[in-house]
Amino acid sequence: MIRKLHEKLINNETTSVELTEEYFDNIKKRDGEIGAYLTLTKDLALDQARAVDDKIKKGEKINLLEGIPCAVKDNIFLDGFRVTAGSKILDNYIAPYDATVVKKLKERNAVFLGKTNLDEFAMGSSNENSAYQKVKNPADSERVPGGSSGGSAAAVASDEAVWALGSDTGGSIRQPASFCGVVGLKPTYGRVSRYGLIAMASSLDQIGPIAKTVEDAAIILSGLAGEDKMDATSARSSDKLYENYLDADIKGIRIGVPDEYLKKGLDEKVREKFDTAVEKFKKKGAIIEKISLPHSDYSLPVYYIIMTSEASSNLARFDGIKYGLRIDDRAKSDILSKKAGSLKNSFVNGTLLETYLDSRQYGLGEEVKRRIMLGTYALSAGYYDAYYLKAQKVRALIKNDFKKAFEKVDIIFSPTTPEAAFKFGEKTDDPLKMYLSDIYTVTANLAGVPAISFSIGEINEEGSKLPVGGQLMGKWFDEENLLRMAHAFGVG
Ligand code: GLN
Repeated sequence: MIRKLHEKLINNETTSVELTEEYFDNIKKRDGEIGAYLTLTKDLALDQARAVDDKIKKGEKINLLEGIPCAVKDNIFLDGFRVTAGSKILDNYIAPYDATVVKKLKERNAVFLGKTNLDEFAMGSSNENSAYQKVKNPADSERVPGGSSGGSAAAVASDEAVWALGSDTGGSIRQPASFCGVVGLKPTYGRVSRYGLIAMASSLDQIGPIAKTVEDAAIILSGLAGEDKMDATSARSSDKLYENYLDADIKGIRIGVPDEYLKKGLDEKVREKFDTAVEKFKKKGAIIEKISLPHSDYSLPVYYIIMTSEASSNLARFDGIKYGLRIDDRAKSDILSKKAGSLKNSFVNGTLLETYLDSRQYGLGEEVKRRIMLGTYALSAGYYDAYYLKAQKVRALIKNDFKKAFEKVDIIFSPTTPEAAFKFGEKTDDPLKMYLSDIYTVTANLAGVPAISFSIGEINEEGSKLPVGGQLMGKWFDEENLLRMAHAFGVG
């Protein structure tokens, strides 16, 4: 898709301004219903597009991302624009600088259409935790788009952006990509700088692309990857053009299918699609091997201890003083004059501590508070050894499962999620049910390996055609092979 648009640009069949206007038209037509965007950056987009058109007119060479309209998840800084992280507490917060990924994309003259909706602080699997509007799944408006990068996935699926940035802590790029029928790539931990991403759980977070095709994801990764001195965890790696590795010949590649992933909880119809996908890989010459990731059962509990612990610490900075919303006496009387009643008792007057408490009480949503409490508990002096430390040890075992598996196979294949997109409200009353959506995705974050979700077909559910995603997980820093395999799946 990106390459085609690029060719149209350089052959003067369209201009970047025309392309950008076309996407804003789509947004105007559809986003009232879909709800993918929180902020539009039209003036910036048109300025960027005009600059690219000028270059083309002068006969200058342009790169593949240049002049192509994209969207940015609203937990990534775009200098000078509001960045909410889907939370009320950052409702009026303006990004003070560009995230490294945004800076890199600006250098490549990508065009920014706007900022996309997400679960508050990227905590969720359905976008229902956004403090703003609901995002609807373009395949069926009664169903969720997945989360937390649901706005990004829905925007791409409904042609409200050519591609979008997401972030993935436990599946937030791959799960919504799977639910919306698009491609989502979580790079190896450290491959892409996290500087300027509002942190959820720093040892798990990675920024990555959501796009229409695997080739697009490869092109975008080439633009994002690289060491960054502003992120101490970014890895030293040489620049690569990932799109040059998309050889469709996969003969002899060994694909491992983890036994533990195909047990109870996997929807029958999703299982069928997955089995068909395995056969397809086989026909293309890959060798399928059953493998075991023996500690898989522990991945969700370990994830929910480590993630909440890190999140509780990261989110301590939102105290009403340094960032965004502050509930002091003046704000209180303002709020109370508008919505008296239920809130009246939750405010106390006066001290600095009370400003902290009131700001967090009013500014943060239920799921965020739940995770802060869980994480604070897991890190508390009396329980640190029993929970956090234990979880870190099991995390090492999970990583070891991957090391051992990769002695036998080149890559691992599984469904992305145990079921296709579910309906609004279906899991909101039961956090544990919601957490199960991430059962196949969190392990890649815990182990740090790269993983990609791509469409392996659709299933019929109550008259709707719902996309189903397959997930490939690769060796550390082996995005080439990951992209190659996912690309080969879709070719021919
Ligand atoms: N759905 C997962 C969670 O709620 C993953 C979130 C993410 O990857 N940001 O934690």
